[in-house]
Amino acid sequence: MPTSKKSEGGDSWYLSDISPSDKPWDLHRAQSDEIQKLYDLCGGDGYARYAERIRECSEWLTYALQAKDDGELNLRLREARFCRVRHCPVCQWRRQQMWRARFFKALPQVQEKYPTARWVFLTLTVRNCELSELRATLTWMNAAWKKLTERKVFPALGFIKSVEVTRAVNGTAHPHFHCLMLMPAGYFSSQKYITQANWGTLWQSCLKADYTPMIRVQAVKPKKGTLNATGDTSKDAIAHAVCETLKYSVKPEDLLADPEWLGELTKQLQKTRSISIGGCLKEFFSEDEPEDLINGDIEEDEKTEDESYLTFEWSNQIKRYQKSIEKTARFRTFLDK
Ligand SMILES: [Zn+2]
Repeated sequence: MPTSKKSEGGDSWYLSDISPSDKPWDLHRAQSDEIQKLYDLCGGDGYARYAERIRECSEWLTYALQAKDDGELNLRLREARFCRVRHCPVCQWRRQQMWRARFFKALPQVQEKYPTARWVFLTLTVRNCELSELRATLTWMNAAWKKLTERKVFPALGFIKSVEVTRAVNGTAHPHFHCLMLMPAGYFSSQKYITQANWGTLWQSCLKADYTPMIRVQAVKPKKGTLNATGDTSKDAIAHAVCETLKYSVKPEDLLADPEWLGELTKQLQKTRSISIGGCLKEFFSEDEPEDLINGDIEEDEKTEDESYLTFEWSNQIKRYQKSIEKTARFRTFLDK
């Protein structure tokens, strides 16, 4: 096994120095420390258990070291333990990366089967609600969405829908849906075309609301110069809409604003679904696939026989992942068994 300085990551001590693309780990893991403290403040058995699990989340990361063609070092994550608590910032970041990767992996197949279809990005909202009413509000919105997709006029062939909840300054919750819909060829010039105003009326009628809720609809337009010969929407053009759809259901800043809010939010969102897939897109991916938080954002690669490893340990003092020679050695012994 190579033990040269280079294979151990050189003289640098920190993950973010050795592998700049792994920098986000420090940020997200530091946020997990903060969420853990807030769950401790929430009191009660359930929250204490969440705090305990988050404390142990991704405490260490073991990477395989690979030399790139240009001699630079490439790190591939091989081992880590995730707490899988819904609002753990590390776990929700890994989950988000995994979902985006799944989408982009499936996209060429979708485009092959529906070469002239177009993507439309729809945001559906309702008025803010008290946080204690969030669960009931989401049930109401989901029932309305189901009705909408069953209406004859619903034009999409398939969709990915996600739930986002933001926190208003006064502490109320603003739940909304992001829907990325695949529309049939010719949708924009067909009778099936729905204007923004009509999406609003439709959404109101499915909600049976006595007000017109705010909605926003946008065609996912290929960026200038990225439209290829067949007129396909390029990966670049759709990336923005995908990132808007497949993201955290609650952003870390809102989770960190107030322990009481976090506690109630956790209760309200328990066992609710954040992403659902419908119509023709179900064929390409499922919301029920097991979550791979280690390889989620990259193509799985072949492990080579004589891989060299390096383990980094989280330091909640300095808020950085740092090299752990002792843990690296322990990991190697574990592999040799
Ligand atoms: Zn976690």
